[in-house]
Amino acid sequence: MKEYFEIPWASLRAMVEPSVAERSVIDHGAYFTSGQIVCSAAVDIRDGEVLTADGSRFPFDYLVIATGHRDSVPRSRSERLIQYKAECDKIKSANSILIVGGGPTGVELAGEISVDFPDKKVTLVHRGSRLLEFIGPKASQKTFNWLTTRRVEVILEQSVDLTNVSDGTYQTSAGETLKADCHFLCTGKPIGSSWLRETILKDSLDNRGRLMVDEQLRVKGHNNVFAIGDITDIPKLPSRT
Ligand SMILES: Cc1cc2nc3c(=O)[nH]c(=O)nc-3n(C[C@H](O)[C@H](O)[C@H](O)COP(=O)(O)OP(=O)(O)OC[C@H]3O[C@@H](n4cnc5c(N)ncnc54)[C@H](O)[C@@H]3O)c2cc1C
Repeated sequence: MKEYFEIPWASLRAMVEPSVAERSVIDHGAYFTSGQIVCSAAVDIRDGEVLTADGSRFPFDYLVIATGHRDSVPRSRSERLIQYKAECDKIKSANSILIVGGGPTGVELAGEISVDFPDKKVTLVHRGSRLLEFIGPKASQKTFNWLTTRRVEVILEQSVDLTNVSDGTYQTSAGETLKADCHFLCTGKPIGSSWLRETILKDSLDNRGRLMVDEQLRVKGHNNVFAIGDITDIPKLPSRT
């Protein structure tokens, strides 16, 4: 797919400080010096081989799947750096910024903008009843307090209709009107398993599209196929109340 590795937790920092991306976006060739990197999407798995979008076939004895989330980012590092610069220019040229989604990405972006550009009006709209719902309520409250202390307006239990935006005017699900010079959609990326749905692994996907693995990370029903990372059904954090 893309020709570089990118450190995900540096990406929001890189949006306000594009020079960070110079260090966090790394060409595969710079660190992977022995072995072959194929920059093409895996599209199918047949008995003992993986097929890629460019028509190649790669036989395997053992296969490890790590296609966590599907990202729609440019193919080359240089294009990705240009994209970061453009996102930073978008932030800099706006007086008011709407962020849609109060998960880790939206919260981090709101934090980065409010720290580096304290004079900008930042509004964060989140569909859920609290920010960062995957962690405990105390941490959600702390996050809320931190953001609001930095003058971020946090609107909970509402969504924004992004199909109907005109002249910087946004409508929320509760009928509120918000004004912003630009917006960022931070509602998460789809899990990267759609390519598996017609393969020999289709019955190993759970109802959320994640690969079911055992304690050895072996994919259910397949002795020589393993999965790691976000594509698996392993809980990311112990559940908390
Ligand atoms: C903003 C942000 C901050 C984060 N902060 C933290 C943190 O502080 N600590 C932490 O532990 N975690 C953090 N995370 C989560 C962490 O980034 C993920 O858990 C981790 O990246 C998962 O790695 P992965 O390799 O499973 O999947 P991914 O990082 O999603 O990588 C999967 C790759 O596979 C590619 N792909 C998908 N489909 C195909 C296909 N068919 N063929 C070929 N390639 C394909 C995708 O393009 C992608 O490059 C953060 C995530 C984000 C977005």
